[in-house]
Amino acid sequence: MEKDLIKLYDECVNELKTIGLDIKNKEIVGDIDIKLSSRASKRYGCCKQEEPDKSSKIVERHGYRRIIKYEKFKKHHIEVSKWVMNLNEDIIKNTIMHEIIHCFPYCNNHGQEFKKYANYINQKLGYNVTRTGNVKEDYEKSNIPYKEKEYKYKIICENCGQEIYRNRLNRNLFKRYRCGKCGGKLKLSN
Ligand SMILES: [Zn+2]
Ligand SMILES: [Zn+2]
Repeated sequence: MEKDLIKLYDECVNELKTIGLDIKNKEIVGDIDIKLSSRASKRYGCCKQEEPDKSSKIVERHGYRRIIKYEKFKKHHIEVSKWVMNLNEDIIKNTIMHEIIHCFPYCNNHGQEFKKYANYINQKLGYNVTRTGNVKEDYEKSNIPYKEKEYKYKIICENCGQEIYRNRLNRNLFKRYRCGKCGGKLKLSN
């Protein structure tokens, strides 16, 4: 399975080169390694950064606190969750691209710079790199049955139909809380 991942990763790297993003250029991106993660995680993947480039240091002030951050790193460790490998190849590659973008300077989050790269790659190479991904949708696209976790109670918003699931029911819920999406009244559904 790890072989498949490396193969798809290499494809991504080559495709990026055709649109002028040379991630083998160590000056810009640094070293990247990629592996499968067997940890039970809802996340598609993650990218751990190491060896910050001292010149990219920024200091953020939050009241009295100072937070030191770096925007550029010399080493990146990408992990892709095992369950992702069961999905369609294009979805796996979206995941890989997403994590590769995190390796670019100023992209260690899902901010402006991340979006810029994602849009560019989506446009030029026909990808669908998003900030979060949608597990249910990706399962359906891959023709794999998706099982919602089972809950005892289903609560719906009378107004917009938003669904909330709970295992325990607190009667105050209906008095105190409203729909987080639209502010509508909640009711128990059967
Ligand atoms: Zn991300
Ligand atoms: Zn609502």
